[in-house]
Amino acid sequence: MRQVRDTTGRFALRPHYQPAELDRECEAVLAQFFRPSHGQIPVPIPTDDLTRLIERDVSDFDPGADLAEYGADVEGVTEFRPGRKPRVRIAGELAYDERRQNRYRTTLTHEYGHVRFHSYLFEIESGSDDLFGLPAQRDRVQVCKRETILDTRVVDWMEWQAGYVCGALLMPISSLRASAGAFQEERGIFGPIASGSAEAMALIGRVRGKFCVSAEAARIRLLKLNFLAAQDRGTSIFAPADGAGLPSISRPR
Ligand SMILES: [Zn+2]
Repeated sequence: MRQVRDTTGRFALRPHYQPAELDRECEAVLAQFFRPSHGQIPVPIPTDDLTRLIERDVSDFDPGADLAEYGADVEGVTEFRPGRKPRVRIAGELAYDERRQNRYRTTLTHEYGHVRFHSYLFEIESGSDDLFGLPAQRDRVQVCKRETILDTRVVDWMEWQAGYVCGALLMPISSLRASAGAFQEERGIFGPIASGSAEAMALIGRVRGKFCVSAEAARIRLLKLNFLAAQDRGTSIFAPADGAGLPSISRPR
């Protein structure tokens, strides 16, 4: 991780992660979490264990929240509180609806991305020698809408990183590489598979079943890791890591 200027104006500097760094860190978090109880990372990762993981690292976790005050399609909110662990709330309609389990799992891991990779930014004291600069009170609440939970093409680097972490936790890199590699070997495929092809659909289906994720979450993860080839090079999949270098916009309010 290196520090770069934050063009959103939220901090003076911000962390810039390469995707491989996030993959490595996420797998290390999971390995450490599961070693005492399971010895290794279970696949798929049970939702109850993901809940235990987030509960460990926040002061208050509410999976049945009413987030209507933040607007339509808001599925998760992480509130950063200097001096205390963050508070995470997830829209109640996700946790208690079996048909929305995949969305609940992706929102849970997305919010965990904020908790794990962004909380420390809010712990740094404001002052003249402050590298990051502490955001105003109103900026200490990260509001996450449905369309940015998995991926975002806009340059909200916090959303981009949390979206990547979501995929990296639900589909840990070593297991995913093993699965996709086995698929390629069985079918004699070398290199990325064309998106939209029958083989791409078969690979997405396999990943979806193995890791208990939606087809969209599997597709995005496979694209980011280059197991699938994008049809449209203008999509966010091929944006530079966490949007560095693209024009800035303000984060969603
Ligand atoms: Zn978010």
